[in-house]
Amino acid sequence: MQHGQAVLVLRRLLARIRDVMAGNGSAQTRLARIVSIIAKDMATEVCSIYVRRAGDVLELFATQGLRATAVRRTRLRVGEGLIGEIAAKGRPLALSEAQTHPNFVYRPETGEEVYHSLMGVPILRGGRVVGVLAVQNVNVRQYTDEEIEALQTVAMVLAELVANGDLVGRDELSPVEGVGMAPMRLEGARLNAGLGIGVAVLHKHRFTIRRLVAEDTREEHERLRKAVAEMHGALDNMLRASAIAGTGEHREVLETYRLIAEDVGWLRRIGDAINTGLTAEAAVQKVNDDIHARMRQVSDSYLRERVHDLEDLANRLLQHLLHGDDAVIDLPRGDADFVLVASNLGPAQLLDYPSGKLKAVVLEEGSPNAHVAIVARALDIPVVGQVRDALVRIESGDPVIVDADHAQVLVRPSEDVRAIFRRSQMARDLRRAQYAALKGMPAVTLDGVAISVSINAGLLLDMQHIAESEVDGVGLYRTEVPFMVRSELPNVESQRQLYRKVLEYAGDKPVVFRTLDIGGDKMMPSWDHGKEENPAMGWRAIRVSFDRPALLRQQLRALIQASVDRDLSVMFPMVAEVEELRCGRRLLQDELERERARSGGAPRSLRVGAMLEVPALLWQLDRLVEEVDFLSIGTNDLFQFLFASDRGNYRISERYDSLSPVLLNVLRMVVEHCRAAGVPVSLCGEMAARPLDAMALIGIGFRSLSISPPAVGAIKMMIRSLDVASLGSYLDLLCAGRQASLREKLKAYAQDHGVLV
Ligand code: PEP
Ligand code: MG
Repeated sequence: MQHGQAVLVLRRLLARIRDVMAGNGSAQTRLARIVSIIAKDMATEVCSIYVRRAGDVLELFATQGLRATAVRRTRLRVGEGLIGEIAAKGRPLALSEAQTHPNFVYRPETGEEVYHSLMGVPILRGGRVVGVLAVQNVNVRQYTDEEIEALQTVAMVLAELVANGDLVGRDELSPVEGVGMAPMRLEGARLNAGLGIGVAVLHKHRFTIRRLVAEDTREEHERLRKAVAEMHGALDNMLRASAIAGTGEHREVLETYRLIAEDVGWLRRIGDAINTGLTAEAAVQKVNDDIHARMRQVSDSYLRERVHDLEDLANRLLQHLLHGDDAVIDLPRGDADFVLVASNLGPAQLLDYPSGKLKAVVLEEGSPNAHVAIVARALDIPVVGQVRDALVRIESGDPVIVDADHAQVLVRPSEDVRAIFRRSQMARDLRRAQYAALKGMPAVTLDGVAISVSINAGLLLDMQHIAESEVDGVGLYRTEVPFMVRSELPNVESQRQLYRKVLEYAGDKPVVFRTLDIGGDKMMPSWDHGKEENPAMGWRAIRVSFDRPALLRQQLRALIQASVDRDLSVMFPMVAEVEELRCGRRLLQDELERERARSGGAPRSLRVGAMLEVPALLWQLDRLVEEVDFLSIGTNDLFQFLFASDRGNYRISERYDSLSPVLLNVLRMVVEHCRAAGVPVSLCGEMAARPLDAMALIGIGFRSLSISPPAVGAIKMMIRSLDVASLGSYLDLLCAGRQASLREKLKAYAQDHGVLV
C-alpha cells in the first residue's frame, strides 16, 4: 500500500471508530463492533482486545476471528504468551511466524492455531498498559512499520474506552492493588532520612485530552501551527528576560530548548500524526508517547537528556493547544497518602502540595544541601535524590515505598515487602508517640547530668519546633538558607524583618546567628560563584564575606537592628585562623557603633563565637578560647577535612565512621580545652542528631548539642535513659584503642545498659 493511501485508510478507520465510540450500546457491544471494523480495514482475519484486570491478568474482551466462546474466558498473565509479553514490556510485537516464537502459548478454546502472523500493541493510558490490541493473519504476513504505527494510533484512541471504567471498574485499573508491572528497586542518595509509603504522584503536567479524532485535519494543522508560534514567542520572551538577568546557565538551557523547538523532525512527526486523523493535541501526545516508550531502551545519557527536553517541550506545546484548560497536575485520588516524584523541585513547590498526605519525595536530581532537602527536613519528609529517570520508570499511581535510610525506592513492591515496611512504619509511629510523651520532661541523664538541646534552623518553618518540642534555643541559625531560596539578594530591611521574626519565635531563648556560609555546595541564585576545582575548600563562608565586606556588613547591620534591646549571638563559619575571627569582630564592632550613632539603639548583650570546622584551628585553641565567647563544632565539615572525605560524595560516605577514636579524641580535646578556659562549647554537626553518636558525644564530655528539629524526641529519649558516669569510663578505654570504628561496641553498650538509641 502506498504511504498516502495508508494514511487515508487509517484516517477513515479512526473516524469510524470515533463514531462507534460516541454511539449507543454498552461498552462491550461497542468494543465488539470496533474489532470487526479494525479487522476489515486492516485486512486481517483476527482482531482482539485484551483488557488488563486485577491480579496481573489480561482478559479477552472482544474478538473478531477467534471463537466467540473464548470472550471473557481466555485469560493470560502479564508476561505469559505473546499478548502477555506485549503487556509486560509495553512494546509492540510483530511476527510473521508467531507460533515459532519461544513465548507463544496455545489456548485451544480460541482456535487460533490456524493463524500464522500476529501483530500486537499495548493499549497505554497515562504511560500504563491497560490492555493489548492484536491482529492475526492466516497467511504469513510481514507487517510494516507503518502498520505497527497505525495500530498504535488506534490503540491510543481505544485507551479512552478501555480506561473509562465501563468495561472494568476504575478501581481494577488502578495499580494500587497489584495491577502494576513487575516490582522494581531504584537506588539513589539519601537527602533526608526516614520511611514513607504512598502512591506515586508525578510532579509534571498531565493533560486530559478529550478530543482524539479530528473532524477536520486542515483545521488541526492550523491549530498546531498557531500553538507552535505561540510557544516560540513564549520561549523568546523567556530568553530575553534571562539575557537581562544575565543568568548564563539558565540561558543555555533555554537556547537548547529553542533549538529543539525548531527541530523539523519532531514537528514533522506531529504533522504526520495529524494526517492520520488525530487532533493536534492527540498527535503531540502520540509522538510524546512514542518517545517515552523509546526512552526506556536508550542508555546514552546525552540522548536521554534530549528526550527529557522533548517531553518538556511537548508539555509546553500541549499547554498552548489546550490553553491550560485541561492541564492538571496529577494529584492522588481521595485522601490517599502519596509520594511525590519529580525531576527537581524548588522549596516553594514542595510547600504547594497538601502536607500531611505527602509521605516522601523522590528526585531525579538533588543533593543533601539542596533547598528542597532543607525544607523537607523541616517538614520531616524523607527524600531520596539522584534516582535516575525516576519520572520515566515510576508511573503515576504506582505504590511506592521510599526507604530513605537506605537510599532506595521500592516501586510496586510485593505484598510481603509492603507488610515488612508497614510494620517498620508502625514501629516508627510508636516511637514518635513515645517522644511526644516526653514533652515537658527535662533532658537530664539518669545520673542527673543536664544536657542542653538546641535546634539547627534555617527557615521560619524550623522555628515552630522551638515551642513544640521545648528545646533550649537555636544553636545554629543558618542565615544562608533564606538567601538560597530567593532569586535576589535580600536587602538590609528584609533581612532585619526576617531576623526579628526568628527572635520573636524564640521568645527569651537564645539564638545563635551564623553569618553567611555560602559557597561550597551552597549556592545562591543571585550570586555568580564561578567554577571552582575544589569548592568545599574554596571561596566560601567568611572568605567570601571578607572579600565582599559589603555583604557581611549589611548582614551584621540587619542582625544588630533586629536585636535592639535583646541578646545577640553572632557566629562566624569556616574560621581557619584566629585573626579571621578578630577581623569579623572588628566589623561587627564598627556596625554596632554605626547603629548607635544612627538610632542610639543596641543589643542588650553581644556574644561572638566561631564554628570550629577547619582542622587548622585545632592547633590554635589556646589563642582561640581567649578570643571567643563560645564555640560550636561543625563536624560535617571538620570530619570531611580530617578524613579528606567529601561530605557530598556517596561513594565514600560509609568509608569512615564518625564514631572513630580519631574524631572522638579530637572532639574530647576541644571540650576539655574549652572547659578549662570556661568557654561554652556545643556541637551542631549532623552526628549530634543521631542517638548513638550523641550518646558517645555526651560520654566524652559534651553538655550542649544542637540538632535538626525532628531528631529532638529521639535524642531526649536517649539522654533520659543514659548513665553518663559509667559510659564515660568505658569510652576512655575505647578511645585509647586502635579500632577504626567504635560503633559496634557502643551499640552493644547501649543494648546492655538499656540506653534507648
Ligand atoms: C557543619 O559543618 O558541621 C555545620 C553544622 O555547618 P554546615 O552543615 O552548614 O556546613
Ligand atoms: Mg560547616
